[in-house]
Amino acid sequence: MNRSYLESFLPPTRLLLGPGPSPVAPEVLTAMAGPTIGHLDPSFIGLMAEVKTMLQMAFATTNEVTFAVAGPGSLGMDACVLNLIEPGDKILIARNGVFGTRMCEVASRGGAHVIPLDFTWGTPVDPQAIDDALKAHKDVKFVGFVHAETSTGVQSDAAAIAAIAQKHGALTIMDAVTSLAGIPIKLDEWGIDAVYSGSQKCLSCPPGLSPVSFGPRAVEHVKNRKTRVLSWFLDITQVMAYWGGDKARAYHHTAPVNSLYALHESLRRLHTEGLEASLARHKAAHLQLLDGLTKLGLELLVEEPYRLPQLNAIKIPATINDAPLRSALLNDFNIEIGAGLGPLAGKIWRVGLMGEGARPEHVSRLLQSLETLMRGQWTEALSLAS
Ligand SMILES: *Cc1c(COP(=O)(O)O)cnc(C)c1O
Repeated sequence: MNRSYLESFLPPTRLLLGPGPSPVAPEVLTAMAGPTIGHLDPSFIGLMAEVKTMLQMAFATTNEVTFAVAGPGSLGMDACVLNLIEPGDKILIARNGVFGTRMCEVASRGGAHVIPLDFTWGTPVDPQAIDDALKAHKDVKFVGFVHAETSTGVQSDAAAIAAIAQKHGALTIMDAVTSLAGIPIKLDEWGIDAVYSGSQKCLSCPPGLSPVSFGPRAVEHVKNRKTRVLSWFLDITQVMAYWGGDKARAYHHTAPVNSLYALHESLRRLHTEGLEASLARHKAAHLQLLDGLTKLGLELLVEEPYRLPQLNAIKIPATINDAPLRSALLNDFNIEIGAGLGPLAGKIWRVGLMGEGARPEHVSRLLQSLETLMRGQWTEALSLAS
C-alpha cells in the first residue's frame, strides 16, 4: 500500500476480540468528538466529579482518592506501586503471568526489595502460598497481585489474598486492568488498599486512561512517607488537589479532556446497563464461546473455576499454524484475537470478550470464521475478499 502522509488516516473496521483494546461503542466515540473545553472550565470539573462517582460505583468503594490517571494501565501500575513503596521496602509480588512480572519490574526500579512468588502460568495465585511466604519473610509491607491475568486467562481469589495480607499487616496492591466490569470487584468489602485498571478492556473505552483508587490505609501511608514519591506526575498528594472534592482546583497537569468525555460515556453506559447485568453478559458470552469451541474440538487452557469470562485462553491444536491463522482472521475476516505470550507463545490464542465485545453476535461471528479457517476453506475466503 502506497500512502502519502498527507492523506488522512482511515482506520479499518476491526472486531476487537483480543486482550485489548476492546470494541468501542459509537456513542463513546461520538462523546469523544465533542468540542474541547478548558480543563478548569466549571462544566469540565462537573464531568470529573461524575467520572469519580461512577468509578467509585464500579470499584464498589467509597475511597475519596479515586480518579483516572492520564495514561494507560501500565501508568496506573506505576502510580500504585511508586506512591506506596520507598527504597528498601519489602514487597511480595505474585507472578503467574506477564503483568505480575511487570509489577516486579516497576517495584524494583523504584528501589523496593522485591520478593517474587512464582506460580505456573495458567494457574491462579495460591493464597496459602502467600500466607507461607509472609510467615517466612518478616517486615513485608506490601503484597502485589494481578486479579485477572490477561496473559493466561486466569482469575485469582482477591478476597482471600487481601485477607491474608491484612492478617500480616501488609497493604495490598491489586491489578484490576482486565477485571474491572468483567468479573466482580468489591474493593471495600475485600479491603484492597490500592488498585489500578484500564479504560480499554471491559470498560470499552479507547486506551489512554487508568482508573485508580487508594483506600484510607494507603493514603495514610503515603502521607507518612519519609522520601518523596519518585514520580512528580503520579504523586497522589499532588494529583488529588486537582481531582479532589469541591475545593478550588489547582492546576497540576492538563487532563486529556476528550478522553475523559469518552470515559464518562462508557461509565454512564455501564451503570445504565447495570454492573450486575454487564457481568452476566460477559459470563453468557464466555459460555457461548466455550460451547462453540467444544464443537470445534478446541479446549481452554485454564481449569474451570479460575477461568476469566472476558479472556479465553484457547489451546492451539498441533495441526494448526498459529500465526497464519491469526493473520487470515485479521486480514480476511477483520477479527483481531491475541497471541500467546512468554512460555505460552504459539501454544494459545487469547480471545477477549471484553465490554462491547461480549455480545452474542460477535461470538457467533468469531466461531463461524474460526470454523471456516480450521476446515481449510480459507483460500476460498481469501479469493472472495480480494
Ligand atoms: C493490559 C493490561 C495491563 C497494561 O495496560 P496498558 O493499558 O496496556 O498499559 C496491565 N495489567 C493487565 C492485567 C492488563 O491486562
